[in-house]
Amino acid sequence: MFTVRTRCSESLARVGTLRLAHGEVQTPAFVPLATKGALKLLEPRDVEALGYELILGNTFHLLLAPGPEVVAALGGLNEFMRWERPIITDSGGFQVFSMGHGTVADEIKGRRGRAGNGQDGAILAIDESGVRFRSYVDGRERMLGPESSMQVQAALHSDIALAFDECTPFHVTREYTARSTERTHRWLERCLSWHGEHGPADQAVYGIVQGGVEYDLRLGSAAAVAASGCDGIAIGGTLGREKAQMHEVVSWVTRELERLAPERPRHLLGIGEVDDLIAGVEHGIDTFDCAMPTRLGRHGMALVPDPKHRWRVDLTKSAWRASELPILDGCACPACARGFSRAYLHYLLRSGELTGQRLVTLHNLNFIARLLDDLRGGIEATRLEAVAAELRAGGTPGLLGVGAD
Ligand SMILES: [Zn+2]
Repeated sequence: MFTVRTRCSESLARVGTLRLAHGEVQTPAFVPLATKGALKLLEPRDVEALGYELILGNTFHLLLAPGPEVVAALGGLNEFMRWERPIITDSGGFQVFSMGHGTVADEIKGRRGRAGNGQDGAILAIDESGVRFRSYVDGRERMLGPESSMQVQAALHSDIALAFDECTPFHVTREYTARSTERTHRWLERCLSWHGEHGPADQAVYGIVQGGVEYDLRLGSAAAVAASGCDGIAIGGTLGREKAQMHEVVSWVTRELERLAPERPRHLLGIGEVDDLIAGVEHGIDTFDCAMPTRLGRHGMALVPDPKHRWRVDLTKSAWRASELPILDGCACPACARGFSRAYLHYLLRSGELTGQRLVTLHNLNFIARLLDDLRGGIEATRLEAVAAELRAGGTPGLLGVGAD
């Protein structure tokens, strides 16, 4: 299902093609979120037009509403939401455990933004079989565990299902992380066994590497997941407090996976800031999902090639009240190419007009899509190091003259 086309000689970066039930995905690729079966403010055709080939839906939210039986009766998630390209579904483990991890989960969510937490639900019990919890939708008692998560994902009929895992929070002991990681490995075996017997034959299953920020636990987890025979491998959990530590933890895992399972695709969960994407590609990550570009867009923050300000500009600031400038000169997104000024967007955002949020969301998704094009092009042209340096220094994605495709 995965072919590596070009490998970078200076790093683990690679260009490849994922062949999935609903089509191909050129990697490295960013994966926009359709957490509840909708790309907030957008239609599928908007996201397709920006060049995206894969989106992510969430098992936890879709289990609670509208319910997997409704989605299955309407022909699966693709048919239900009218998206024709591949879909990956998150297992629900992150959301269901977030309810219990409380403030710690919020801390991670702020950093990682993986498809939202459990909001007002509550965990009733956690054991080897899974998690019993109260639904934030209707207060009903529900259960999510390895088999039920796979069952929901089978009903959604996503192209890629993720195994049910516990996303271990940052503020726990090494012993807790070790026990939790072991259980995640046992759950992976149960997910694969359920899927082998009942799952759709055209659905791939990714296992998830956990292990917190512990070197040996991460390596052990990478080995266990690689040995399980799953189709692809995701990296989840707490990756550290600082970016440098996060990049290091990712590099431990990808170096080990390069040794143990070099031909299998690698997904990094919940990571998507511009510098993290560049570093992730260099560390050999093939796909990334993150709420960042779309969530920022809804808050009026636009992505721009400005590393000093974390690649973002706040269009709600009064500095833009009368600005004739587009968000970004030369940007081909629907907001910039059609000449919407910062003043107009500022006004829309301050007035709570959804059109403003939609235009900034489109711009942000275009920015990230072009960034990944440039990184793919850089690998193909065997000059990733130079391209990455240019992007880190404030080069405009899509205008470096290296974009792939
Ligand atoms: Zn734009």
